[in-house]
Amino acid sequence: MTNGAASVAGPTSRRRILVIEDEPDLARGLRDALEFEQFEVSTAGQGREGIARLREAGTDLVILDLMLPDINGFSVCEQIRQSHPVVPIIMLTARSQETDKIRGLEAGADDYVTKPFSVGELVARINAIFRRLHRSTATDEAIRIGQVTVYPRRHELVRNRKTLPLSFYEVEILRLLHERKGEPVAREEIMEKIWGLTGYGSSRSVDNFVVKLRKKIEENASSPRHIVTIYGTGYKLLL
Ligand code: CA
Repeated sequence: MTNGAASVAGPTSRRRILVIEDEPDLARGLRDALEFEQFEVSTAGQGREGIARLREAGTDLVILDLMLPDINGFSVCEQIRQSHPVVPIIMLTARSQETDKIRGLEAGADDYVTKPFSVGELVARINAIFRRLHRSTATDEAIRIGQVTVYPRRHELVRNRKTLPLSFYEVEILRLLHERKGEPVAREEIMEKIWGLTGYGSSRSVDNFVVKLRKKIEENASSPRHIVTIYGTGYKLLL
């Protein structure tokens, strides 16, 4: 499995992944596995170091451990999001509690993998993200939803002349709902199409992204008119 010619930046330019992980064996294992997959990898053993490294070099994706010695992963994630609203972040969590996953997504992570995980699973997740990014840059039609205009490739929306950033998965969920506008789309289908894996995680993750999207899109997020809940099923987009 290689990124190869599918790379947006071209076949000669390798994707750069930053691994923020304090366990040396795991960091080394990840570096070896990802380099084998033709990614360019840098590592940081602490949160602050990771944030600093992200500022200095172009990074295409971040793998972030939740438990770090200096500052916790949630806080690192929030700080990264302030300076890099778009870069995909996959959080590594040692716990399987739902609350951690939801907190991670709220802090701005796009995806999470629970330790122990197989490197193959993580690489599949990474490649799925890059395939989607490639597709995202291939089509960049603005999407008009009510008073809001969404620019998928720029990962932005404009509302009342104010520009707001959209995270990677927020864009992907909007794109999927828009492809099927006016029809109910099941949570499970969103999980499968966006995350590329079935039976993974909880469909509550979808709800979490929808909550964030509504805050950006709806005039009144508690009484949504565009991203409508279909009870027992999922969501429907009304333009
Ligand atoms: Ca750790």
